[in-house]
Amino acid sequence: MSGVPGLGHTGAEPVPASPVREKRHDLCVPLTTRTRLLAAVMMAAYGLLMTPAVQSMVAATYVRDIDTSRAFYELLGFREQSAGSAATSAWSSLHHGELSVLLTSTAPPLDIPRLPLLFYFFYEDVDAVVGVLGAAGVQVTHTGHPPHALGGEVKVLDPDGNTMLLGQREPSASQPPATHEEVTVRFSLLREAAALVSTRGGTEHQCQARDRQGGLCSNGADVKLADSMGDKAWVCLAHADEILVTVPEAFIASEDGPGLAAYLSRP
Ligand SMILES: [Zn+2]
Repeated sequence: MSGVPGLGHTGAEPVPASPVREKRHDLCVPLTTRTRLLAAVMMAAYGLLMTPAVQSMVAATYVRDIDTSRAFYELLGFREQSAGSAATSAWSSLHHGELSVLLTSTAPPLDIPRLPLLFYFFYEDVDAVVGVLGAAGVQVTHTGHPPHALGGEVKVLDPDGNTMLLGQREPSASQPPATHEEVTVRFSLLREAAALVSTRGGTEHQCQARDRQGGLCSNGADVKLADSMGDKAWVCLAHADEILVTVPEAFIASEDGPGLAAYLSRP
């Protein structure tokens, strides 16, 4: 279990005494008070509490059977990088690029309730992973094109029966618009508007929408949207589609025709 501290203790194994536990008896101050005192000293020393800098995160899940779950996660694109087992526990560390999932199991198995959502994975090409899962006989349920997964979203169950969602944030260029008629119409209107902008030499604007981390979208703008309050924004196609779904007042702003003024001033 080296490299994965804290995992594998089943209660029967002795927990090694840490220096903190030993010192606790020397100081006649409860641990929580000491923690607060330490925080106060740190604040005084640094002026403010710094936000801890997280470097990476490992998602761990307890599974009934490591081999079965490993095979499932391999379909999702992960590969085992290290593994270990003892009499009462086993673990497998699966990686895909910077991402990792830690599978761990105990013997006897823990009684773990199924979760409504265990993991959400975003893919560059969700159809590709759906093809892999389908070929392996995994049942895949399409759940549509929600605003956070305009390229499509599917639901699968892991070998323990937990829900996993797989999504694609932006539609791919080659991907046909969603089959739902309204979405198809909306998207074809957007594409027409974008094509019109493009035939006029395009636009220098960047997409003015923000991503989920609060940063500006890195895409170039494709279309201009406006709302009934008079606000306007240049946005990429993916954000335009999301805005038209979530902001009922928004519409595609065309600068083509003579405009409302011409209509109102006609004889
Ligand atoms: Zn955008």
